[in-house]
Amino acid sequence: MNKLQSSCEAFKLSAMKYYDFIVIGSGISGLNFALNASEKGKVLIITKKHILESNTNYAQGGIAAVLDKLDNFKKHIDDTLEAGAYHNNKQAVRYMVTHGPKLINKLAQLGVPFAEKDQKLMLTKEGGHSAKRIAFVGDRTGNAIEKTLVKAVHEHSKITIWENSFAVDLLVKNKKCYGLYVLKNNKIEKVFASAVILATGGLGQVYKKTTNPNISTGDGFAMAARAGCKVKDLEFVQFHPTALDLPRRKSFLISEALRGEGAVLRNNNGERFMSKYDKRKELAPRDIVARAIFQESKKGTVCLDITHENSKITQERFPTIHKKLKKIGIDITKQCIPVSPAAHYACGGIQVNLKGETNIKNLYAFGEVACTGVHGANRLGSNSLLEAVVFSDQILEKLKISKSKKIPSFPPYLLNKKSSGKFSYVKQRIKKIMWNYVGIIRTEKGLSEALKTLMKLKKSFHPTSKNIKEFETQNLLEIAILITKAAIKRKKSLGCHFIDS
Ligand SMILES: Cc1cc2nc3c(=O)[nH]c(=O)nc-3n(C[C@H](O)[C@H](O)[C@H](O)COP(=O)(O)OP(=O)(O)OC[C@H]3O[C@@H](n4cnc5c(N)ncnc54)[C@H](O)[C@@H]3O)c2cc1C
Repeated sequence: MNKLQSSCEAFKLSAMKYYDFIVIGSGISGLNFALNASEKGKVLIITKKHILESNTNYAQGGIAAVLDKLDNFKKHIDDTLEAGAYHNNKQAVRYMVTHGPKLINKLAQLGVPFAEKDQKLMLTKEGGHSAKRIAFVGDRTGNAIEKTLVKAVHEHSKITIWENSFAVDLLVKNKKCYGLYVLKNNKIEKVFASAVILATGGLGQVYKKTTNPNISTGDGFAMAARAGCKVKDLEFVQFHPTALDLPRRKSFLISEALRGEGAVLRNNNGERFMSKYDKRKELAPRDIVARAIFQESKKGTVCLDITHENSKITQERFPTIHKKLKKIGIDITKQCIPVSPAAHYACGGIQVNLKGETNIKNLYAFGEVACTGVHGANRLGSNSLLEAVVFSDQILEKLKISKSKKIPSFPPYLLNKKSSGKFSYVKQRIKKIMWNYVGIIRTEKGLSEALKTLMKLKKSFHPTSKNIKEFETQNLLEIAILITKAAIKRKKSLGCHFIDS
């Protein structure tokens, strides 16, 4: 390269927005990665709403790790494999479980105020866990973690944060990622980086009933698939057994920890029914409890009952749930809570190895959007915050941060000019189809009908304006098709994928 060429190249790079790392998403995995990466270079965090808005912020129950003398790694590994129907990647499970305690300590040192008694972490138990191993902060563990990490990234001079900025598509050429198109201040611009990190969380909004906030529209999964990333295990969508179920009320998660603390499930006749379905009763793995509730609710409303426990302790242990339900007229210390299952967690996702590498060079994925294989066919409760923090705790040691590398030219983002279906109508159709045919109990016929209808919708829908909701709808549609195709391929029931033949 002669002098003139090299000065042109330097000019081009300075005219571009270029970072060492671009992290898409500000949940536990994105923020934790950003903090580590800032030791190596300049980091940009892109997040579509306020920085706090994420699934992480709504996690109630807690985070699992071996922290008690009566517990051990083998037990945590065995519980994870059993819940995952032994479809898990054993190496990834071992990695997560053995690194867990260190990461809980790191979070505590950063300032997460985990509940303690006599200067020792208090631990609780959840369904499928054979020991007390869930560290928690009341019933707002995720919010406490999120606030702590946000405070830490705000204090860091090498981290830039773009809120209300929507990642539209990745810039990929010849299986190498160079950056992305971002919708910011009503403009779609290009930003470049040595490494792009997808930490975009879940896809719950693809279903009519979900515990996930509005941001969980599967953008990262869809973006990665469009760019040629391998995806895996998408048929395994976990339905949380107990979300508040009241007509015209948004679903609200009623933490599994309530069952851990003694709450029982009753059918329309007031009978406790779980022993008919599993010897572990209310503490059976989530897929079993969700299907049991689904079956029982055919006969009428199913309720979660904690009224027999000490009311003072219930209020102290579950202040958020108690307050939130009291506002809508349900006193959980005196009344049963009407519940239904709701889409909660994507066990599958973008296929990654233990370092978070995808099959596209310079593109990494961490947290719920990634599939390390730890959850297998069904996630064990409280293992997802753990997975997100353990695998994102990397600095990408081998990454060479070289600003002289060549960036191929990418065209400006082009919107489709042809008019398209109305996004709000398309979105509602997707949610209903997915809930009715690709939900808790699936049939071969239902799945193939669903796929046909979704493909028809896809033919007629595409974003035509710089409205985030249009891009989200496109992503929901693409991820709905991927989930349905994966469910069709898996002919036999396994974990959260249940086929009624
Ligand atoms: C109600 C609820 C309770 C839960 N309780 C627990 C629990 O007790 N224990 C447990 O282990 N797990 C729990 N989970 C699951 C757990 O919270 C999540 O799996 C985990 O927080 C995911 O973290 P993440 O970093 O991968 O993604 P998230 O925390 O979801 O963050 C994703 C981020 O990406 C951003 N984003 C998405 N798309 C774009 C885009 N196109 N452009 C820009 N930004 C984008 C979002 O705005 C968000 O900031 C719960 C989940 C819910 C919904």
